[in-house]
Amino acid sequence: MPIHTLYPAERGNLSLSFEYFPPKNDEMETQLFQTVEDLAAFNPAFVTMTYGAGGSTKARSLTAVRRMIHDGFPNTAAHLTCVGAAKDEVDAIVSEFIDGGVRHFVALRGDPQGGIGARYEPFPGGYENAAALVAAIRARGDFEISVSAYPEKHPESPDVVTDIDMLKRKVDNGATRALTQFFFDNNDFERYLERVRRAGITIPVVPGILPINNLAQVSKFAGLCGARVPEAIVTRLIHLDESPLERFKEATHIAAEQIVDLARRGIRDFHVYTMNRSPLVAAVCDLVGFQRETSAAVPSRAAGAAA
Ligand code: FAD
Repeated sequence: MPIHTLYPAERGNLSLSFEYFPPKNDEMETQLFQTVEDLAAFNPAFVTMTYGAGGSTKARSLTAVRRMIHDGFPNTAAHLTCVGAAKDEVDAIVSEFIDGGVRHFVALRGDPQGGIGARYEPFPGGYENAAALVAAIRARGDFEISVSAYPEKHPESPDVVTDIDMLKRKVDNGATRALTQFFFDNNDFERYLERVRRAGITIPVVPGILPINNLAQVSKFAGLCGARVPEAIVTRLIHLDESPLERFKEATHIAAEQIVDLARRGIRDFHVYTMNRSPLVAAVCDLVGFQRETSAAVPSRAAGAAA
Protein backbone atom coordinates (compact mmCIF):
# COMPACT_ATOMS: atom_id res chain seq x y z
CA MET A 1 0.00 0.00 0.00
CA PRO A 2 1.45 3.43 -0.86
CA ILE A 3 2.47 5.32 2.23
CA HIS A 4 0.32 8.32 1.23
CA THR A 5 -2.94 6.44 1.56
CA LEU A 6 -4.86 7.10 4.74
CA TYR A 7 -5.98 4.10 6.75
CA PRO A 8 -9.78 3.73 6.87
CA ALA A 9 -9.87 4.84 10.51
CA GLU A 10 -7.87 7.95 9.66
CA ARG A 11 -10.21 8.82 6.79
CA GLY A 12 -12.90 9.54 9.34
CA ASN A 13 -15.35 12.03 7.94
CA LEU A 14 -13.04 13.80 5.52
CA SER A 15 -14.83 15.88 2.96
CA LEU A 16 -13.98 17.36 -0.41
CA SER A 17 -15.10 20.33 -2.46
CA PHE A 18 -14.03 21.09 -6.01
CA GLU A 19 -13.52 24.41 -7.75
CA TYR A 20 -14.30 24.91 -11.47
CA PHE A 21 -14.16 27.88 -13.79
CA PRO A 22 -16.68 28.84 -16.50
CA PRO A 23 -15.88 27.53 -19.99
CA LYS A 24 -15.06 29.95 -22.82
CA ASN A 25 -16.20 27.78 -25.73
CA ASP A 26 -18.02 24.56 -26.60
CA GLU A 27 -14.93 22.41 -26.32
CA MET A 28 -14.13 23.75 -22.86
CA GLU A 29 -17.76 23.29 -21.86
CA THR A 30 -17.63 19.62 -22.82
CA GLN A 31 -14.43 19.22 -20.83
CA LEU A 32 -15.87 21.00 -17.79
CA PHE A 33 -18.97 18.84 -17.59
CA GLN A 34 -17.01 15.65 -18.19
CA THR A 35 -14.71 16.66 -15.31
CA VAL A 36 -17.66 17.47 -13.07
CA GLU A 37 -19.16 14.07 -13.87
CA ASP A 38 -15.86 12.23 -13.29
CA LEU A 39 -15.20 13.90 -9.95
CA ALA A 40 -18.80 13.46 -8.76
CA ALA A 41 -17.68 9.91 -7.95
CA PHE A 42 -15.93 11.37 -4.89
CA ASN A 43 -19.22 12.79 -3.64
CA PRO A 44 -18.03 16.36 -2.95
CA ALA A 45 -19.82 18.26 -0.18
CA PHE A 46 -20.15 21.12 -2.67
CA VAL A 47 -18.57 22.45 -5.84
CA THR A 48 -17.87 26.06 -6.76
CA MET A 49 -17.84 28.03 -10.02
CA THR A 50 -15.52 31.02 -10.26
CA TYR A 51 -16.49 34.47 -11.52
CA GLY A 52 -14.30 36.10 -14.15
CA ALA A 53 -11.82 38.80 -13.28
CA GLY A 54 -13.46 42.18 -13.78
CA GLY A 55 -16.81 40.46 -14.04
CA SER A 56 -15.70 39.36 -17.53
CA THR A 57 -17.43 36.01 -17.37
CA LYS A 58 -20.65 37.10 -15.69
CA ALA A 59 -22.88 35.47 -18.33
CA ARG A 60 -20.69 32.39 -18.60
CA SER A 61 -20.64 31.94 -14.81
CA LEU A 62 -24.42 32.25 -14.64
CA THR A 63 -24.94 29.78 -17.47
CA ALA A 64 -22.49 27.25 -16.03
CA VAL A 65 -23.93 27.48 -12.50
CA ARG A 66 -27.51 27.10 -13.80
CA ARG A 67 -26.51 24.04 -15.81
CA MET A 68 -24.67 22.46 -12.85
CA ILE A 69 -27.75 22.85 -10.68
CA HIS A 70 -30.03 21.61 -13.45
CA ASP A 71 -27.76 18.60 -14.11
CA GLY A 72 -28.06 17.37 -10.54
CA PHE A 73 -25.46 19.31 -8.55
CA PRO A 74 -27.66 21.42 -6.25
CA ASN A 75 -24.70 22.13 -3.98
CA THR A 76 -23.07 24.43 -6.50
CA ALA A 77 -21.69 27.65 -5.03
CA ALA A 78 -21.48 30.76 -7.19
CA HIS A 79 -18.41 32.98 -6.82
CA LEU A 80 -19.15 36.68 -7.12
CA THR A 81 -16.89 39.76 -7.03
CA CYS A 82 -17.38 43.49 -6.45
CA VAL A 83 -15.34 44.46 -9.53
CA GLY A 84 -16.64 46.73 -12.27
CA ALA A 85 -20.27 46.90 -11.17
CA ALA A 86 -22.43 49.21 -9.06
CA LYS A 87 -24.35 47.81 -6.10
CA ASP A 88 -27.64 47.51 -7.97
CA GLU A 89 -25.98 45.54 -10.74
CA VAL A 90 -24.31 43.18 -8.26
CA ASP A 91 -27.63 42.82 -6.40
CA ALA A 92 -29.33 41.92 -9.69
CA ILE A 93 -26.72 39.22 -10.34
CA VAL A 94 -27.30 37.84 -6.84
CA SER A 95 -31.02 37.68 -7.69
CA GLU A 96 -30.28 35.84 -10.94
CA PHE A 97 -28.18 33.30 -9.08
CA ILE A 98 -30.86 32.85 -6.43
CA ASP A 99 -33.52 32.41 -9.13
CA GLY A 100 -31.25 29.79 -10.71
CA GLY A 101 -31.27 27.82 -7.46
CA VAL A 102 -28.03 29.03 -5.82
CA ARG A 103 -27.95 28.76 -2.02
CA HIS A 104 -24.21 29.15 -1.50
CA PHE A 105 -22.09 32.11 -2.56
CA VAL A 106 -18.33 32.65 -2.52
CA ALA A 107 -18.14 36.41 -1.92
CA LEU A 108 -14.98 38.14 -3.08
CA ARG A 109 -13.65 41.61 -3.65
CA GLY A 110 -11.87 40.56 -6.84
CA ASP A 111 -8.66 41.75 -8.44
CA PRO A 112 -8.12 45.32 -9.68
CA GLN A 113 -9.40 45.89 -13.22
CA GLY A 114 -5.84 46.76 -14.26
CA GLY A 115 -4.82 43.21 -13.29
CA ILE A 116 -3.11 41.69 -10.26
CA GLY A 117 -0.60 44.19 -8.90
CA ALA A 118 -2.53 47.29 -10.02
CA ARG A 119 -4.09 49.52 -7.36
CA TYR A 120 -7.62 48.43 -6.40
CA GLU A 121 -10.27 51.15 -6.59
CA PRO A 122 -13.84 50.31 -5.63
CA PHE A 123 -16.23 50.82 -8.56
CA PRO A 124 -18.22 54.08 -8.18
CA GLY A 125 -21.40 53.15 -6.33
CA GLY A 126 -20.17 49.57 -5.93
CA TYR A 127 -19.42 47.41 -2.92
CA GLU A 128 -16.06 48.50 -1.55
CA ASN A 129 -14.75 45.08 -0.57
CA ALA A 130 -15.65 41.47 0.14
CA ALA A 131 -16.91 42.30 3.65
CA ALA A 132 -19.49 44.70 2.19
CA LEU A 133 -20.56 42.09 -0.38
CA VAL A 134 -20.95 39.47 2.36
CA ALA A 135 -23.23 41.86 4.30
CA ALA A 136 -25.34 42.48 1.18
CA ILE A 137 -25.79 38.76 0.48
CA ARG A 138 -26.48 38.00 4.13
CA ALA A 139 -29.25 40.64 4.06
CA ARG A 140 -30.90 38.61 1.27
CA GLY A 141 -31.38 35.45 3.32
CA ASP A 142 -30.02 32.42 5.03
CA PHE A 143 -27.39 31.48 2.45
CA GLU A 144 -24.07 29.78 2.94
CA ILE A 145 -21.40 32.40 2.33
CA SER A 146 -17.82 31.35 1.80
CA VAL A 147 -14.97 33.86 1.58
CA SER A 148 -11.27 33.82 0.75
CA ALA A 149 -8.39 33.45 3.20
CA TYR A 150 -4.65 33.74 2.63
CA PRO A 151 -2.28 31.50 4.65
CA GLU A 152 0.69 33.41 3.19
CA LYS A 153 -1.22 36.75 3.35
CA HIS A 154 -2.75 38.58 0.41
CA PRO A 155 -0.13 40.49 -1.61
CA GLU A 156 -1.93 43.80 -0.91
CA SER A 157 -1.95 43.24 2.85
CA PRO A 158 0.83 45.04 4.70
CA ASP A 159 0.95 42.18 7.23
CA VAL A 160 -0.85 39.07 8.46
CA VAL A 161 -2.65 40.99 11.22
CA THR A 162 -4.32 43.25 8.63
CA ASP A 163 -5.17 40.21 6.60
CA ILE A 164 -6.82 38.41 9.50
CA ASP A 165 -8.65 41.64 10.45
CA MET A 166 -10.24 41.57 6.98
CA LEU A 167 -11.25 37.93 7.45
CA LYS A 168 -12.79 38.88 10.80
CA ARG A 169 -14.81 41.68 9.15
CA LYS A 170 -16.15 39.19 6.61
CA VAL A 171 -17.10 36.75 9.36
CA ASP A 172 -18.72 39.51 11.45
CA ASN A 173 -20.82 40.37 8.37
CA GLY A 174 -22.05 36.80 7.95
CA ALA A 175 -19.44 34.60 6.25
CA THR A 176 -19.82 30.96 7.22
CA ARG A 177 -16.67 29.39 5.77
CA ALA A 178 -13.26 30.44 4.46
CA LEU A 179 -11.61 28.75 1.48
CA THR A 180 -7.90 29.43 1.29
CA GLN A 181 -5.64 30.45 -1.52
CA PHE A 182 -3.52 27.45 -2.55
CA PHE A 183 -0.33 26.88 -0.59
CA PHE A 184 2.23 24.08 -0.53
CA ASP A 185 3.78 24.26 2.94
CA ASN A 186 1.40 22.93 5.57
CA ASN A 187 3.36 24.72 8.32
CA ASP A 188 2.27 28.02 6.75
CA PHE A 189 -1.35 26.89 6.96
CA GLU A 190 -1.06 25.62 10.53
CA ARG A 191 0.59 28.85 11.73
CA TYR A 192 -2.08 30.89 9.95
CA LEU A 193 -4.91 28.82 11.40
CA GLU A 194 -3.55 29.29 14.93
CA ARG A 195 -3.54 33.07 14.43
CA VAL A 196 -7.06 32.99 12.95
CA ARG A 197 -8.34 31.07 15.98
CA ARG A 198 -6.50 33.40 18.38
CA ALA A 199 -8.33 36.29 16.66
CA GLY A 200 -11.61 34.67 17.73
CA ILE A 201 -12.60 33.44 14.27
CA THR A 202 -14.33 30.08 14.59
CA ILE A 203 -15.72 29.33 11.11
CA PRO A 204 -14.19 26.43 9.14
CA VAL A 205 -11.05 27.44 7.27
CA VAL A 206 -10.71 24.99 4.41
CA PRO A 207 -7.27 24.53 2.84
CA GLY A 208 -7.09 25.10 -0.93
CA ILE A 209 -5.15 22.30 -2.63
CA LEU A 210 -3.72 22.82 -6.10
CA PRO A 211 -2.32 19.67 -7.73
CA ILE A 212 0.53 20.88 -9.95
CA ASN A 213 -0.31 20.07 -13.53
CA ASN A 214 2.26 22.48 -14.94
CA LEU A 215 5.10 23.70 -12.73
CA ALA A 216 5.99 26.76 -14.82
CA GLN A 217 2.38 27.98 -14.89
CA VAL A 218 1.81 27.33 -11.20
CA SER A 219 5.08 29.05 -10.23
CA LYS A 220 4.14 32.12 -12.26
CA PHE A 221 0.63 32.27 -10.85
CA ALA A 222 1.88 31.65 -7.31
CA GLY A 223 4.26 34.60 -7.68
CA LEU A 224 1.34 36.86 -8.60
CA CYS A 225 -0.81 35.59 -5.72
CA GLY A 226 1.88 35.86 -3.04
CA ALA A 227 2.07 32.07 -2.64
CA ARG A 228 5.37 30.17 -2.46
CA VAL A 229 6.31 26.98 -4.29
CA PRO A 230 8.90 25.45 -1.92
CA GLU A 231 12.27 24.55 -3.41
CA ALA A 232 11.74 20.90 -2.43
CA ILE A 233 8.68 20.71 -4.68
CA VAL A 234 10.40 22.50 -7.56
CA THR A 235 13.28 20.00 -7.27
CA ARG A 236 10.88 17.05 -7.45
CA LEU A 237 9.19 18.30 -10.63
CA ILE A 238 11.59 20.45 -12.58
CA HIS A 239 13.54 17.65 -14.27
CA LEU A 240 10.34 15.86 -15.36
CA ASP A 241 9.28 18.30 -18.08
CA GLU A 242 10.05 15.76 -20.80
CA SER A 243 8.42 12.81 -18.98
CA PRO A 244 4.68 13.45 -18.74
CA LEU A 245 3.91 10.15 -17.03
CA GLU A 246 6.58 10.56 -14.35
CA ARG A 247 5.55 14.19 -13.87
CA PHE A 248 1.92 13.16 -13.41
CA LYS A 249 2.89 10.54 -10.81
CA GLU A 250 5.12 12.93 -8.90
CA ALA A 251 2.46 15.68 -8.94
CA THR A 252 -0.08 13.14 -7.69
CA HIS A 253 2.20 12.16 -4.80
CA ILE A 254 2.97 15.78 -3.88
CA ALA A 255 -0.71 16.74 -3.55
CA ALA A 256 -1.66 13.45 -1.85
CA GLU A 257 1.16 13.86 0.68
CA GLN A 258 -0.06 17.38 1.42
CA ILE A 259 -3.63 16.22 2.05
CA VAL A 260 -2.57 13.23 4.14
CA ASP A 261 -0.29 15.40 6.25
CA LEU A 262 -3.08 17.95 6.81
CA ALA A 263 -5.50 15.16 7.71
CA ARG A 264 -3.01 13.86 10.27
CA ARG A 265 -2.88 17.40 11.70
CA GLY A 266 -6.64 17.25 12.21
CA ILE A 267 -7.95 18.93 9.06
CA ARG A 268 -11.16 17.39 7.76
CA ASP A 269 -12.24 19.47 4.74
CA PHE A 270 -10.29 20.05 1.53
CA HIS A 271 -11.07 22.44 -1.34
CA VAL A 272 -9.38 21.24 -4.54
CA TYR A 273 -8.61 23.55 -7.46
CA THR A 274 -9.42 21.26 -10.41
CA MET A 275 -8.46 23.51 -13.36
CA ASN A 276 -11.44 21.78 -15.01
CA ARG A 277 -9.47 18.56 -15.51
CA SER A 278 -10.17 15.30 -13.73
CA PRO A 279 -7.23 12.87 -14.24
CA LEU A 280 -4.75 14.45 -11.80
CA VAL A 281 -7.38 15.35 -9.20
CA ALA A 282 -8.93 11.87 -9.37
CA ALA A 283 -5.48 10.26 -9.04
CA VAL A 284 -4.77 12.39 -5.96
CA CYS A 285 -8.12 11.51 -4.36
CA ASP A 286 -7.58 7.81 -5.08
CA LEU A 287 -4.07 7.87 -3.64
CA VAL A 288 -5.25 9.58 -0.46
CA GLY A 289 -7.95 6.95 -0.12
CA PHE A 290 -11.14 8.95 -0.68
CA GLN A 291 -13.92 6.51 -1.47
CA ARG A 292 -15.48 6.46 -4.90
CA GLU A 293 -19.25 6.05 -5.05
CA THR A 294 -21.49 5.09 -7.92
CA SER A 295 -23.63 7.96 -9.22
CA ALA A 296 -26.79 6.28 -7.92
CA ALA A 297 -25.32 6.34 -4.42
CA VAL A 298 -24.26 9.99 -4.50
CA PRO A 299 -26.87 11.87 -2.45
CA SER A 300 -26.39 15.34 -3.94
CA ARG A 301 -26.85 14.03 -7.48
CA ALA A 302 -29.79 11.86 -6.54
CA ALA A 303 -31.48 14.82 -4.80
CA GLY A 304 -30.86 17.06 -7.82
CA ALA A 305 -32.14 14.48 -10.25
CA ALA A 306 -35.32 14.09 -8.24
CA ALA A 307 -35.96 17.86 -8.16
P1 FAD B 1 -10.63 40.75 0.49
O1 FAD B 1 -10.93 39.62 1.37
O2 FAD B 1 -11.51 41.94 0.56
O3 FAD B 1 -9.16 41.21 0.71
C1 FAD B 1 -8.08 40.27 0.66
C2 FAD B 1 -6.92 40.81 1.47
O4 FAD B 1 -6.36 41.95 0.81
C3 FAD B 1 -7.39 41.26 2.81
O5 FAD B 1 -6.98 40.33 3.74
C4 FAD B 1 -6.83 42.62 3.02
O6 FAD B 1 -5.91 42.61 4.07
C5 FAD B 1 -6.14 42.97 1.73
N1 FAD B 1 -6.73 44.17 1.17
C6 FAD B 1 -7.88 44.27 0.51
N2 FAD B 1 -8.08 45.52 0.10
C7 FAD B 1 -7.03 46.22 0.53
C8 FAD B 1 -6.65 47.56 0.44
N3 FAD B 1 -7.43 48.45 -0.20
N4 FAD B 1 -5.48 47.92 1.02
C9 FAD B 1 -4.71 47.04 1.66
N5 FAD B 1 -5.01 45.73 1.79
C10 FAD B 1 -6.15 45.35 1.23
N6 FAD B 1 -11.06 36.26 -8.20
C11 FAD B 1 -11.98 36.42 -9.18
O7 FAD B 1 -11.92 37.37 -9.94
N7 FAD B 1 -13.00 35.51 -9.33
C12 FAD B 1 -13.16 34.44 -8.52
O8 FAD B 1 -14.09 33.65 -8.70
C13 FAD B 1 -12.20 34.24 -7.47
N8 FAD B 1 -12.31 33.21 -6.63
C14 FAD B 1 -11.42 33.07 -5.59
C15 FAD B 1 -11.58 32.03 -4.67
C16 FAD B 1 -10.71 31.86 -3.61
C17 FAD B 1 -10.92 30.74 -2.63
C18 FAD B 1 -9.62 32.77 -3.45
C19 FAD B 1 -8.64 32.59 -2.32
C20 FAD B 1 -9.44 33.83 -4.35
C21 FAD B 1 -10.34 34.00 -5.42
N9 FAD B 1 -10.22 35.06 -6.33
C22 FAD B 1 -11.14 35.20 -7.34
C23 FAD B 1 -9.09 35.99 -6.23
C24 FAD B 1 -9.46 37.26 -5.42
O9 FAD B 1 -10.45 37.97 -6.13
C25 FAD B 1 -8.23 38.12 -5.24
O10 FAD B 1 -7.30 37.49 -4.40
C26 FAD B 1 -8.49 39.55 -4.82
O11 FAD B 1 -7.29 40.31 -4.97
C27 FAD B 1 -8.95 39.72 -3.40
O12 FAD B 1 -10.28 39.39 -3.23
P2 FAD B 1 -10.79 38.95 -1.76
O13 FAD B 1 -12.21 38.69 -1.78
O14 FAD B 1 -9.87 37.93 -1.24
O15 FAD B 1 -10.54 40.36 -1.02
